[in-house]
Amino acid sequence: MKLNIAHLYPDLLNLYGDRGNIQCFRKRLEWRGIDVEVTQYLQGDSIDFSDIDIVLLGGGSDREQEIVCEELKKIKKDFKEYVENDGVVLAVCGGYQLLGKYYKTKTKSIEGLGILDIYTEWEPERLIRNIILNSDLFSTPIVGFENHGGRTYIGNHTPLGKVFFGLGNTGKGDYEGVVYKNVIATYLHGPLLPKNPHVCDYLLKKALDRKYKEDVKLAKLDDHMEAAANNYIVARYSNKGNV
Ligand code: GLN
Repeated sequence: MKLNIAHLYPDLLNLYGDRGNIQCFRKRLEWRGIDVEVTQYLQGDSIDFSDIDIVLLGGGSDREQEIVCEELKKIKKDFKEYVENDGVVLAVCGGYQLLGKYYKTKTKSIEGLGILDIYTEWEPERLIRNIILNSDLFSTPIVGFENHGGRTYIGNHTPLGKVFFGLGNTGKGDYEGVVYKNVIATYLHGPLLPKNPHVCDYLLKKALDRKYKEDVKLAKLDDHMEAAANNYIVARYSNKGNV
């Protein structure tokens, strides 16, 4: 078996080590004897989504998001088709915002892909802190770090999780992220996957099942260090209130 991973615009969208998510995908496949090929797509490159199994769209500053927005216009239709066709996507922070209709900054409106029926509006106070979510998809909490000026309004979409500690989509500490088909879109940097191997394996399984049209069983890996760190973080924040 083999998965092809597309890292979109890594030179522009790679805040707080989002690239670590690619390393996590790669290592967890290699440890299981599954082949993996990672392709970086830069500005101007054409992208054939028919050959892609996982897309990573990382976070970026408002300036970088504006540049990427022009690139996304060229691939909008193909990217949407890929998602509707159950393609796997991990979108983090700026990448999450760009999956929506628009991100309105202090000075301009940046057009998004319109794949998700969500929108984001900037406010002066940045939302910066560790964050912990409880998600219906997982029995283990998701831990990470958020740093965003945008507030994302997700309408009828399903959130990734309920905020246990932190601020989340709109800064109110209620919900965080979106799950849509095989897309996980979230504000959690960190990077997300090395801290949350359960989320990594969820996406890998979705990609393998889709590609090989079977219920692929992923071999268990030794994640006791990650589990201990997760327990520690959840315990540390469990009596601090949701701020
Ligand atoms: N520029 C966006 C914001 O501030 C996204 C930032 C990020 O990706 N960390 O909301």
